[in-house]
Amino acid sequence: MFQLLKQSKKSRARLGLLTTPHGSIETPFFMPIATKGSVKALDSSDIKALSAPIILANTYHLYLQPGLEVLKKFGGLHKFMGWDGPILTDSGGYQVFSLGNKFNHRSSIVIPDLIGNPEKNRNKKELDPRVSPALAGSPEPARNASHSDAGGDDNVLNSLVKINQSGVEFRSFIDGSKHLFTPEKVQKIQDIIGADIKMVLDICSPHPCFKHQAELDLQLTHEWAKRALEYHQKHYCRGRACLRPGNLKGCPYPSLFGIVQGSIYKDLRIKSAKFLSSLDFDGLAIGGLAVGEDNKKMYQVLDYTIPELPTDKPRYLMGVGKPENIIEAVKRGVDMFDCVIPTREARHGRLYLYKKSNIKNKKLNANFYEVVNILNSKYKKDTKPLDKNCDCKLCQNYSAGYLHHLFKAGEPLALRLATLHNVSFYLKLMKSIRTNIKTNRF
Ligand SMILES: [Zn+2]
Repeated sequence: MFQLLKQSKKSRARLGLLTTPHGSIETPFFMPIATKGSVKALDSSDIKALSAPIILANTYHLYLQPGLEVLKKFGGLHKFMGWDGPILTDSGGYQVFSLGNKFNHRSSIVIPDLIGNPEKNRNKKELDPRVSPALAGSPEPARNASHSDAGGDDNVLNSLVKINQSGVEFRSFIDGSKHLFTPEKVQKIQDIIGADIKMVLDICSPHPCFKHQAELDLQLTHEWAKRALEYHQKHYCRGRACLRPGNLKGCPYPSLFGIVQGSIYKDLRIKSAKFLSSLDFDGLAIGGLAVGEDNKKMYQVLDYTIPELPTDKPRYLMGVGKPENIIEAVKRGVDMFDCVIPTREARHGRLYLYKKSNIKNKKLNANFYEVVNILNSKYKKDTKPLDKNCDCKLCQNYSAGYLHHLFKAGEPLALRLATLHNVSFYLKLMKSIRTNIKTNRF
């Protein structure tokens, strides 16, 4: 359930409250990524201590490992990982398809009525970037940079991915076994995980992508969205006149979000936004961005997509992004974000710092922060905290010189302290954004 609390008069930025079975969250918010049921280097008490309002886990990875039987035995991911806050699960489609794109199996997509033009098909085979040997051989295409925090597992897969109307068939990266994801099955898996917010199975078109391919992807995405919603509605009454035993006061039901696709094509994006807005989803996500396009293009897509989305439902921009991307997207009306940047960058010793000591009353312009490399020798004898105004465990208890030493010495504690700091930076950024909206600065 989403309540719109304030609409800015200066921009499309807004404040809201999103209620889930595990608590309410002020929007706009950021979700630290716990792909496999752990925010890398942190445990659930760390996440709680940071006041992270929600985390994001991944259906694809949890389905393969530890698997549904283990998750069922533990009563879902909340109990398994000792986290009692909200969890959003990505559908896993992105992981399935990004692996397929990478390894040149995407050409197996079959939608007979849309690929009847032999000329188109011939060109597609020759020109489709998804069958480019250069791309297929790329160790880690940029488009994956902000969408998966699986620690590099994705890179070693040689996965066969077959897409048809019913769903997508793929091979496990663990044992090579074959699996089928259908829109319905992906909902069932997310229910077993116990997600508070679930996503539909979609097809994320890569970038660049020819328009006819983006159209094919979109058609299936829409068909699958309808099927996912039908499945969801059969299993959850949404608390309205609920007749389930014990649930007469309204049951805590998970939300289901549709995902707008359409690559960088304005007409496709608008068509997708209108179509999905016409269905009874609890929220709408914008997928297929931060896949290699530049910032200007990303903002353009938001500029023409968001006005087509309903104002009374939350909007989630998937996989975005850098602090400046988040600020620009909030100003365009986005409420929810996730990205691997704070956690992944932390593990490489890159730490996010506010240039001004106290951002509460500062304007968040493009230059409000910097990224420093703690491995730089200038930190070797630095006895001061990295940021004396930061309230994270690192800055409150240790010097920059100590963190420099931990990284140099390969101590695992380095990863934990750096991750705590970067996640704290992102959460404070969101708090500052909300304050800016409240005080009419955005
Ligand atoms: Zn800190």
